[in-house]
Amino acid sequence: MNSVKAGVGYEVVIGLEIHVQLLTASKMFCACPTTFGAPPNTQICPVCLGLPESLPVLNARAVELGIRTGVALNCTVHPRSRFHRKNYYYPDLPKNYQITQYQYLVHPPLATDGSLEIASEGPRRPIGIRRVHLEEDTGRLVHPPRGGHSLVDFNRSGVPLMEVVTQPDLRSPQEARTFLGGLRVLLQAIGVSTGRMEEGSLRVDANVSLRLPGGPLGTRTEVKNMNSLRSVERALVHEVARQRQVLEAGGAVVQETRHWDEDRGVTFASRSKEEAQDYRYFPEPDLVPLVVTPAVVEESRRTLPELPEARRRRYVATFGLPEHDAELLTSSASMAAFFEETVKRFPYPRTVSNWLVGDVAAYLNAHGKELEGLPVTPDRLAGLLRLVEQGTISGRTAKELLPEMLASGADPEALVQARGVLQISDTEALRAVVDEVIREHPGPVADVRAGKGQALTFLVGQVMKKTRGRANPELVHRLLRERVSS
Ligand code: ADP
Ligand code: MG
Ligand code: ZN
Repeated sequence: MNSVKAGVGYEVVIGLEIHVQLLTASKMFCACPTTFGAPPNTQICPVCLGLPESLPVLNARAVELGIRTGVALNCTVHPRSRFHRKNYYYPDLPKNYQITQYQYLVHPPLATDGSLEIASEGPRRPIGIRRVHLEEDTGRLVHPPRGGHSLVDFNRSGVPLMEVVTQPDLRSPQEARTFLGGLRVLLQAIGVSTGRMEEGSLRVDANVSLRLPGGPLGTRTEVKNMNSLRSVERALVHEVARQRQVLEAGGAVVQETRHWDEDRGVTFASRSKEEAQDYRYFPEPDLVPLVVTPAVVEESRRTLPELPEARRRRYVATFGLPEHDAELLTSSASMAAFFEETVKRFPYPRTVSNWLVGDVAAYLNAHGKELEGLPVTPDRLAGLLRLVEQGTISGRTAKELLPEMLASGADPEALVQARGVLQISDTEALRAVVDEVIREHPGPVADVRAGKGQALTFLVGQVMKKTRGRANPELVHRLLRERVSS
């Protein structure tokens, strides 16, 4: 399998394991709150500390969210599943076992065998979902920079997690990123997760290997420690290149866990607690089997909110947006919500969409921001677009004001006043500028008279330049034609 023939390209194979923090108010097996960012060890009790004689009680809401995810991902939701103890020792795990569901012949996990469609470079295609299961989070070790000791915070101990595992169906780092974006917006749409990778509410382990096209699967490595979609893609690009080098040098890829170093842009091999030993899984004796009736699954299906896929189709059908724009808008929950709210206030969907997928998206990319983190409101964007629509400011001025409005959330009318950028629609004022331009450019004027359209565009440009983009372009056109032909 590792024999390398010159010129033979490898195929990239990627499968993802995604840990999702469920949007519940309380923990998986106790009533402690799950609020992010609370002071250390303030959200704990005997159950999540694993003290003797405490007993777990399953969080019904977490089960409901797990079922909803299974349904949304076209999985089979199993009528009966079990929790198991995964035994290992680590300071962040006070019970010395984690309660989890695991693929097990007699006891399936909550849901299996689903799919999620993605639109990557080629046509839309389904990526297989191997399983969806529930488990609890561990505590967190904190290593103070000075002191030579570690601290442990148990606030996260027992927080409800769901693991979504894909089939090895992804074929490039970029496709893995697209899939994750699609899964994230789906989880947000169904109210299962905030999807915030930087807060750890979505954590991704990426399994990657190379193989000769059509051949058996190659040996994989598992890459961890990425905290944004962008770093998942970067880490995979690096890891693919590293494996290719190993194989092309005639070596063999070692199956191991590798950590992504964001600053250095490399992955490095690491001993991880996961590989330490056999987990001695056995059914959790303190919890009865989890029974999910067909009626519960049906109810979950019936009450599912609009999924991103349906939303995308609706944007094309009812707003008349191009496929590509609808795809972009619906690939982010905050972008889609912003779009719909803006359209309510400024009912020209194509215009709103053009601004969002154009200048707004460019701004977000350039600044590495999400729309929901900005102070700007749909009301403000609608206000800006209305000023253009009414001819108060030119489109070019609106583009210039946009970054400031996005960054500060400022009222567009106030910005226009403060900057003195009202569009000049005053015929007398513009006529003076037009005459000046005609005097200064006799050559192009002669060209226009000789029927050269290019020259007219040039003259319009000169007027725009003199007015710093504030002239009403239609009016300038009309005045120029009048003056040149007279
Ligand atoms: P484990 O139980 O050891 O975590 P799984 O068989 O459940 O392993 O697979 C974990 C993830 O690794 C899945 O997303 C799967 O698609 C992916 N995977 C398995 N084999 C390969 C491979 N050879 N190359 C890339 N990904 C793989
Ligand atoms: Mg694994
Ligand atoms: Zn607790």
